Amino acid sequence: MIPFVDLKAQYHSIKPEIDAAIARVLETTQFVLGSEVAAFEKEFARYCETDQAIGVNTGTSALHLALLAAGVCPGDEVLTTPFTFVATVAAIGYAGARATYVDIDPRSFTIDPAKIEEAITPRTRVIMPVHLYGQAADMDPILEIARRRGLVVIEDAAQAHAARYKGKRLGSLGDLGCFSFYPGKNLGAYGEGGAVVTSNPEYTEKIRLLRDWGAPVRYQHKLKGYNYRLEGMQGAILNVKLPRLDAWTNARRAHAAEYTAALAGSGVETPAVCAYGEHVFHIYAVRTRQRAALQTFLSERQIQTGIHYPIPVHLQEAYADPAYPPGSFPHTEAAASEVLSLPMFAELTSEQIREVASAIHEFGRTSRGA
Ligand SMILES: *Cc1c(COP(=O)(O)O)cnc(C)c1O
Repeated sequence: MIPFVDLKAQYHSIKPEIDAAIARVLETTQFVLGSEVAAFEKEFARYCETDQAIGVNTGTSALHLALLAAGVCPGDEVLTTPFTFVATVAAIGYAGARATYVDIDPRSFTIDPAKIEEAITPRTRVIMPVHLYGQAADMDPILEIARRRGLVVIEDAAQAHAARYKGKRLGSLGDLGCFSFYPGKNLGAYGEGGAVVTSNPEYTEKIRLLRDWGAPVRYQHKLKGYNYRLEGMQGAILNVKLPRLDAWTNARRAHAAEYTAALAGSGVETPAVCAYGEHVFHIYAVRTRQRAALQTFLSERQIQTGIHYPIPVHLQEAYADPAYPPGSFPHTEAAASEVLSLPMFAELTSEQIREVASAIHEFGRTSRGA
């Protein structure tokens, strides 16, 4: 069986260090925040080329607190794309704001900057590009519009650790950048985790307060805060993993290049890599009009795949908005019905990649009736 992701392979490659890190936390009893989290925040900020990183309990909390730090209030609008994981839009709702959308660019699957301006209203406060699958949104035009219109830019970089746009780390381009350390992400904890990165000291201070009950001093609550603290155990695990992120990222990029070469002529469309950035392939998604049949075919050959994401957020029952009926975002809706994510993780082997590719070629031959 070729799994979609294999978290065990990675654990076994670093087991002694992980086990020691966990034991260290048990001995110090710094289970919540503490020195491991502080050390991780310092290293992660350095890695992201920002002044500060604030560790929180999930990527969703990172987005929520970034929105609050940016001053988003009930009645405000936050502009993003509907082709994302639901957390992007859920966080906007947690801040009391309304999500407004523009369609994606069909090549990059990220927000189409050419459509942003016409979607801005007097209530828009934030533009939230999502660096979907590990590829940067086209940030220069987004930042230019935001500057001219007085909007805050919050990057949803939950799938894009280590990725770059024109040489700069994602998360560092906007006013705030949000990461998830959910186990399956490119930098994953062994539990939940997230972080906000920023170089704005006011945002940093507000987020540090909000993640821990709004209390600069214990039991003195300056702001209405949350329990969004990052656990010590996760900080210690992330400290072991962060120094390996570059090697793991390079492995993913190499696997993606192998897939793309091996899939030429197979009948599926392989992912575009935009020249402006460095894609880190959190997800390697191909496109095909015969997705359901291909997914079944691969599954019968013990190859696991995924769909990210089958229903765009504007068509989700829980997030329906009368302003966005079906058909509102043609590129998003087409992508949602055609993308198929192939197995992708650093420890994937060339042999496994060849096996997946040859199964897809075989499907192509049979479905074309050859
Ligand atoms: C994973 C993810 C999130 C949420 O992160 P959690 O840590 O699961 O809360 C937000 N946005 C995107 C695009 C994601 O992929």
